[in-house]
Amino acid sequence: MKCNFCGKTINTEKKIILQGKESYICEDCLLVGFSTLVNLKPELSSSVSSLFNDKSLVQNNIKKDKKINLLTPVEIKRYLDDYVIGQEEAKKVLSVAVYNHYKRVFVNSNELTRELSLDEVELPKSNILLIGPTGSGKTYLASTLAKILNVPFSISDATSITEAGYVGEDVENILLRLIQAADFDINYAQIGICYIDEIDKIAKKSADNPSITRDVSGEGVQQALLKILEGTIANVPPTGGRKHPHQQYIQIDTTNILFIAGGAFSGLEDIIKQRLKSSALGFRVNPSKYQENENIFNYVNNDDLLKYGFIPEFIGRFPVVATLSKLSLRELEDILIKPKNAIIKQYQKLFALDNIKLEFEKEVIKYIAKKAYESKTGARALKSILEDILLDLMYELPSNNKKNKNIVINMDYIKEIEEKLSKLPKSA
Ligand code: ADP
Repeated sequence: MKCNFCGKTINTEKKIILQGKESYICEDCLLVGFSTLVNLKPELSSSVSSLFNDKSLVQNNIKKDKKINLLTPVEIKRYLDDYVIGQEEAKKVLSVAVYNHYKRVFVNSNELTRELSLDEVELPKSNILLIGPTGSGKTYLASTLAKILNVPFSISDATSITEAGYVGEDVENILLRLIQAADFDINYAQIGICYIDEIDKIAKKSADNPSITRDVSGEGVQQALLKILEGTIANVPPTGGRKHPHQQYIQIDTTNILFIAGGAFSGLEDIIKQRLKSSALGFRVNPSKYQENENIFNYVNNDDLLKYGFIPEFIGRFPVVATLSKLSLRELEDILIKPKNAIIKQYQKLFALDNIKLEFEKEVIKYIAKKAYESKTGARALKSILEDILLDLMYELPSNNKKNKNIVINMDYIKEIEEKLSKLPKSA
């Protein structure tokens, strides 16, 4: 039996399509046909891939420059180390979780799973919850992962979403951002990573947690998110905003989208501490080993999250929890200069493009790190402090005609800037 399209002999054990009595098509040509069809009509992609439930179809249909890098956990962690300072445990947890996720998406079965009759065993999705202070690198970790793996990545804010009927965005807008990041290539979007920031803000208010001000809509948003977190064919309004009855929708299957949700979870520390204290008093549990200088979030469990205001189903959708700690002074210094994409290197490049060599004295690096450490926004503050320091230079130097200048930022210059800033009105 020969395929009428490529002429290859068809292996009769493989699926073939018989049309009439004399037409045959091999599996490979069939896949090429579907890929072509999906490229012409992207809206068919989710129905075609779910029809076949064939992972290779999705992979084959993604354009070459969009091929995902399937790396081992050690390789992923090694790449992360190039960009992210500290947060060792979180990097390890994330490397393993992401490796397992994409193994589930693209491999799913092999000789050994067949031999052990494990092919029917379904691997659940491992969405990831990141808990750590503001500016400790949660968003940065997620975006760096997406970059390393070459998958589309989007960031959404949980506070902008509301349950149906309230003023605000529908949950599907989270997916729209991912589709946009994938240049409207639905297959590519379907293996992307969605980061949802400020997830702690959709905890419901309860007697246990009076510090959270959001109430009804918090739980409603958690409910609304459940479906897309788990895996569903979602209808996304192509222009964003709210759904409209007469609108055409983009269909997207969320089964293989990895969701990473992050938040600072202020108030959660007290819940954990309280539990540790009361369990230490009980008979059955060993006194807690928690030390005051440790990251208390390392001890978080599902009960704490429940008390914080998350519904059990929602917690269940995030089987992997990684915690980040407040960055130390030393780590903040390193962030300024060490990573491949270090903030100081970014400014050096900006200046170099104007033929100016920019350097910082060691004391200045220490000063910037200390200021950021004292702020409430961790590493996020580094950039704004540098902006303050460099603003005048960035304003004046490009119109200064002298070529190849060297500029060294020292503490005298910092004092000048500080003086100037302190004279500005508070609102400036
Ligand atoms: P979070 O999401 O935890 O509030 P971000 O990830 O937005 O914090 O961090 C803000 C910026 O600070 C990042 O874009 C990155 O440049 C820098 N940054 C934060 N943490 C780290 C880190 N551990 N290593 C390197 N850079 C970091």
